[in-house]
Amino acid sequence: MYCYKVMIHPNNKQTTKIRRTLNKCIECNSIVYDYIDSFIKNKEKIPSCGDVRKWFTIQKKIYDDIAISKRLGMTKKEMITNHLDILFYDVSNDALKQEIKDTYNAFIRYFNKLSKYPVKKKFDNYKKSFYVDPYKIKFSDKKVRLEKIANNLKYNRQVLNYINLAEKDRIPQNVKYYNPRVVLEGNRFYIVVGVDDEHSPKKKITTTDNIIGVDINIKSVVTSDNDVYKSITANKKYMKALKTEKKLQKKLSRKYIKSKELKKSLRESKNYQKQRKIKNKYTRRINNLKEAHIDYVISSIINKRPKIICVEDLDVKQMQKSDNKYLRKGIHQNPFAKLLNKLIDRCQKVGINIIKADRYYSSSKICSECGYKKIDLKLSDRTYICPNCGLIINRDYNAAINLKKYVTIIN
Ligand SMILES: [Zn+2]
Repeated sequence: MYCYKVMIHPNNKQTTKIRRTLNKCIECNSIVYDYIDSFIKNKEKIPSCGDVRKWFTIQKKIYDDIAISKRLGMTKKEMITNHLDILFYDVSNDALKQEIKDTYNAFIRYFNKLSKYPVKKKFDNYKKSFYVDPYKIKFSDKKVRLEKIANNLKYNRQVLNYINLAEKDRIPQNVKYYNPRVVLEGNRFYIVVGVDDEHSPKKKITTTDNIIGVDINIKSVVTSDNDVYKSITANKKYMKALKTEKKLQKKLSRKYIKSKELKKSLRESKNYQKQRKIKNKYTRRINNLKEAHIDYVISSIINKRPKIICVEDLDVKQMQKSDNKYLRKGIHQNPFAKLLNKLIDRCQKVGINIIKADRYYSSSKICSECGYKKIDLKLSDRTYICPNCGLIINRDYNAAINLKKYVTIIN
């Protein structure tokens, strides 16, 4: 399956509708979460997903009735400030249905020991999304139509029916779509949709007979052709953005404490929301820089069109527990685990054979010239000096050559 992520430009009316749907989905999540959570606390067996959905259909009506009675005699402005301007009835049913399923599955994943105990979704999460029925979504070359977001039936308002896409002719039309979602990241909206592999723009490539070993570590990515790609932490713009984000986060948490002192909810506190918007800008910038860097490294490796790529099998979870403070911090700032996963994914798509070296194959300790194993090599030794044959070589380059050799060993 191939996934498309395209930004959308909803107009003001559509934006409010999308935001309301997102908020209503989070409300739904919180109601269902409390319901299932109460069963677990009482040590009872939780009901099936179908039963939860039936239960929610009744609850939905009760919540709507309460909201209607509350908003009697209110002006429209008061309704908006009290978040009463929208009912569950106004929101697309598919979005709510999927929200219940997602919440339920989070608990099932916990029971199967696949994840930790689920947490409630929050209104001020950086990333929020809701589901759209794949049969009801419709794409034209420049626009997309979503159910209950933009379905004005009036003839002279037809333009309102569609939301503008940021990229023209990117998503294929009239094909089968999987799991379409509208996503809000920071201050921007996206549409994410999966399609079958045959509609993906990335086709298989013809490869040469080359074999490349790739050593990935915190400071750089080094290939066996001695191409060095410095880590993103060497990028001044990126480090500056990280610093600014940290400052803004501090400011935000101060506003958070203040609004708690005043006993205001975060949705009502305007200063908090203003500050969050500014902070989100930087979070987005950081994410974009990361993605761009990963894409640059991966595409320059793949453009060499090797037959086989050999990489190290990194144990990132073990590294996160490490006593070395700088290693832990490096993992947080530097997305090299993501880079590895993306490289594997891309290689499989374009038809390059990718091999993960055994975790106990110590590629950095072995001499690439004579095969001597230097056991007492430390993490701080940046150059490898072989006591057997006298070879002096960059540590990462040495590891990359060893990874290239690994392919011939196992074959
Ligand atoms: Zn040697």
